[in-house]
Amino acid sequence: MDTEAAQPAEQRLDSAFLERFKLLDQSGALEDLAKLRRENRELDALATDAASLFVLSSIEAMIEFVIARLVERFVPSNLLFLIENPRDRRLRQYRYRGVERIEEDFPREAYAALRRRFQASPFMVSFRELAEEDSMAAFAEAAASLEPELALPMRGIEGLFGAVILGGKIIGGEYSELERMYVDRIVRFLSIGIQNGLHYESAITDPKTGLYNHPHFMRRLEEEQSRAARRGIRSGVIMLDVDRFKLFNDTHGHLAGDAVLNAMAETIHAAIRGEDVAARFGGEEFCVLVMECDELALLEVAERIRVAIEELVVPFEGRELRITASVGCCLISGLRGVDAEAYIDRADKALYLSKSGGRNRTTLHRAGLLDRASLLRARASRPEGPQPERAAEPPKP
Ligand code: GH3
Ligand code: MG
Ligand code: MG
Repeated sequence: MDTEAAQPAEQRLDSAFLERFKLLDQSGALEDLAKLRRENRELDALATDAASLFVLSSIEAMIEFVIARLVERFVPSNLLFLIENPRDRRLRQYRYRGVERIEEDFPREAYAALRRRFQASPFMVSFRELAEEDSMAAFAEAAASLEPELALPMRGIEGLFGAVILGGKIIGGEYSELERMYVDRIVRFLSIGIQNGLHYESAITDPKTGLYNHPHFMRRLEEEQSRAARRGIRSGVIMLDVDRFKLFNDTHGHLAGDAVLNAMAETIHAAIRGEDVAARFGGEEFCVLVMECDELALLEVAERIRVAIEELVVPFEGRELRITASVGCCLISGLRGVDAEAYIDRADKALYLSKSGGRNRTTLHRAGLLDRASLLRARASRPEGPQPERAAEPPKP
């Protein structure tokens, strides 16, 4: 009897399949296939990671996102991200031991040597290879404490702008080919993300003081007005103008004036909360958006800033410079039909009263009748919380 015919059809199929499987296995094709599958999975993960990376707006957040992705695969002993500031070429450093951020300075000259190396050959390179190059001896010494294994360039549309140094794995020996591929590609994506982030930062900040610029402040103010209209959340605007600054410049010189503006920006920044928005509005004018406050809190913040500026002493070429500023502020009512410009106008009017009243003082713009009616309506629907109507009267101009 024909044995094949005696076997059920499924069993015949199985043995034919097993034969072919064995042949494929012997030829190494199955191993190749498994490797391709692994690579495909990594590429898939990379595409998803890149999409998540590109929507992050802060550089820290991008770096931390990449670290979290790396840690899913391995834990590098050390990580160093070196990024050149596009405006002043200052080197920003983000250094991690394990996954903990640490403050330890990497020498600028050592970065400069790595930069030259990457300009000649902008590709991921193993530390072992780098250390053998004569010109990299100083770099190798400076990087030794990072237990470095891989170095990668960061490049964007304007060319090289930074580098990443990756320490060896805490466990698991050397980096595998697949791990190196992932690191190489994710750092390429990170570079694009960071360069976008740096350009965005430049677009919304004032180059002199590092505070936000006028257009960004207006956009944030518009957002706050919409939020106030939709959800009844009150915020406030503070506007400051340095007193008699023209005379100050004439007396001490423009550079002294610039030093004071810089110190003033730091003072304002230090006097507000993280979620508040401080901007340089124009020459010697600054604005602050104070999030979620009532009249009393707004006045308190405005006075805190004014007093901090009054107490500020700026050392400059052996002199001790002092200034004062006049302040105007107003609450964002959220009343529909009132736009961001109108709040600036109100804060400006209050500021004008501070100036005409003798300077170095704060004035709060009192809301008109319609504005107050909406304020009271919002209050009626939210019984608890501070009572803006009971706010202290602003200092009289
Ligand atoms: P007031 O108390 O009425 O505000 O007097 P003021 O002199 O401050 O007002 P004015 O608007 O007449 O002058 C503003 C001065 O601010 C003139 C300008 O030279 C100076 N200024 C504006 N931007 C800068 C800057 O970036 N650096 C320096 N050093 N000075 C600046
Ligand atoms: Mg002015
Ligand atoms: Mg002024």
